[in-house]
Amino acid sequence: MEHKIKVELGDITKCETDVIVNAANTSLMGGGGVDGAIHRAGGKAILDECMHIRNKQGGCKTGEAVITNAGDLPADYVIHAVGPVWQDGSKNEDKLLYSAYHNSLKLASKNNLKSIAFPNISTGIYGFPKERAAEIAIHAVQDYLVEDEFIQNVTFVCFDEENYRIYSKLLP
Ligand code: ADP
Repeated sequence: MEHKIKVELGDITKCETDVIVNAANTSLMGGGGVDGAIHRAGGKAILDECMHIRNKQGGCKTGEAVITNAGDLPADYVIHAVGPVWQDGSKNEDKLLYSAYHNSLKLASKNNLKSIAFPNISTGIYGFPKERAAEIAIHAVQDYLVEDEFIQNVTFVCFDEENYRIYSKLLP
């Protein structure tokens, strides 16, 4: 099971997995960090579909995820997952982060997507402690791979060296 999980240092917009995950916000209207990078590199088609979803269902709740096309990106789809803003750890942050990963994997599987790349959701602008977030992300993925054998490859794409060090330590 473990061999399905990889860690990379780099830019998720370059990933050629079936689907890449975006660390989106509830508005689905784009933002900074990886969200900005995905919309810049992917072009208008992604934002158009996000707007359509927003008009239909009013955005995306924290801990949940929606799927769109990937525009000009090498991936085939983008899953927009909304992680929690870190407050003090008592506002259900751990569970919501776990759900963001879990629901992304569920959505990938439902759409017949076998390879998926995740950024380190919530650890940028949202301020989630990185080591704690990595432990939750890894547990969510490992738990999911036990219950659903459809997903073949999960890559954690770390953009900063600190996250890369943490993931490499936790996933030798
Ligand atoms: P959040 O609001 O969920 O914290 P951010 O985009 O601010 O989202 O940060 C999430 C993570 O994405 C951070 O660890 C940040 O270093 C990383 N990141 C930023 N740009 C990219 C990129 N192009 N590819 C992969 N990860 C990225």
